[in-house]
Amino acid sequence: MAQTGNQAHTEKNKEWHKQLGFFLLWVVVQTTFLVSCVPSTQPEELSATIPAKNNETPEPTVTTQPLDTATPAPAQMSLAATPEPIPPTATATSEPEPHIYLVEAGDNLTIIANKFNTTVETIQRANEIVDGNAIHAGMALEIFLDGVPTDPVAGDSADRNILPNQILCPSADEVAELDTEGGTIIGRSAVCDIPILSYTFGTGGTSLVWVGGMHGGSEWNTILLAYAFIDHLRLNEESIPASLSIVVIPNANPDGLFAVTRRIGRFAETDVDVDTANGRFNGNFVDLNRNWDCEWASTGVWQNNTVSGGTAPFSEPENQILRDFIVAEDPAATVLLHSAATGVHMAGCGQIDPESRTLATVYSQASGYPIYDSFQHYAITGDASNWLAQQGFPAITVELSTHEDIDWRMNLAGLNAMMNHMAIQTTAN
Ligand SMILES: [Zn+2]
Repeated sequence: MAQTGNQAHTEKNKEWHKQLGFFLLWVVVQTTFLVSCVPSTQPEELSATIPAKNNETPEPTVTTQPLDTATPAPAQMSLAATPEPIPPTATATSEPEPHIYLVEAGDNLTIIANKFNTTVETIQRANEIVDGNAIHAGMALEIFLDGVPTDPVAGDSADRNILPNQILCPSADEVAELDTEGGTIIGRSAVCDIPILSYTFGTGGTSLVWVGGMHGGSEWNTILLAYAFIDHLRLNEESIPASLSIVVIPNANPDGLFAVTRRIGRFAETDVDVDTANGRFNGNFVDLNRNWDCEWASTGVWQNNTVSGGTAPFSEPENQILRDFIVAEDPAATVLLHSAATGVHMAGCGQIDPESRTLATVYSQASGYPIYDSFQHYAITGDASNWLAQQGFPAITVELSTHEDIDWRMNLAGLNAMMNHMAIQTTAN
């Protein structure tokens, strides 16, 4: 019995070895093939040089330098690719970059600007060059083409919906199929044209607004928390005091969420890419919470990175939409959800708004989050809550404790405490 078993086993081993041999041969052939066409295995990284098909946004168009295609040095390509997390020193990757130009010996900014029919100022701004003489041969510059591309690549097109600034967008069909039931479309994202939705519960005249996802895919848990609020309020509408309406805007930055989930609307944690850093920005690569008109600057800080605050305060459509919505809604309180600095932050432009202080205290005491009178970690420019508070729309920022958890019990307690506080305020008035 044992012998028969062993013989059978040996036969299987032989057969297996034969199959292994064929497999190894196949692997060698495949590997040889792959090595010979490495760029084609990295379609996303190559997208920097691929003009978009079905591109609904007319600018900026990408042109390809012979240098880029002839020598696709892996390090250089990955620097230009958006799916990579932003390394602390490579701040330039947070900007849109239709074109990478390597400075040649004898170049100066005027020569380069003339080559691309752009301006010295545009190049300096894009590359954060303070001293125009401080460029050197071999230096990589990001060039924004202001007008018509100087050297379009004929016949080279992508069959995916990748825009020239490397933002990946859903197809128009996907957008059209988005389930908007129960919600109201208040506007659309800057580049991918994805609806931004609001959901209202209760019918009272005093409203409380929640905003998730301003930092899109890098803070996707704030969007899941907002959806959790929506589900909770839908099932517990009777818990809303009669004087109140609760408005939830689950995702203020759909482009940024799509960049790391390939989803619009609802999504699951399992949809999220490993690298989420670039999901922070909108389709124009602007940090939406550096683009509001309080202490605004064209470049802002995010941890060790420099990020774009946009070309002007409220240059970004998502922020125009949110601003106009809140101004029209005139809420008694707005809660802006972020992650993951753990705490409730008061708001105000230059000085703390007393109402914001009160709201932050209510939320902190109920939730258990620590309370801060300002963001502690680095200087913030163009912050939404600070602008809102300055304009007379009391606001607080709630920073979740991680980038994954929604801290449900803490934030549900915060929601209930805010409702109670506001209902008492309304009755008192
Ligand atoms: Zn944030």
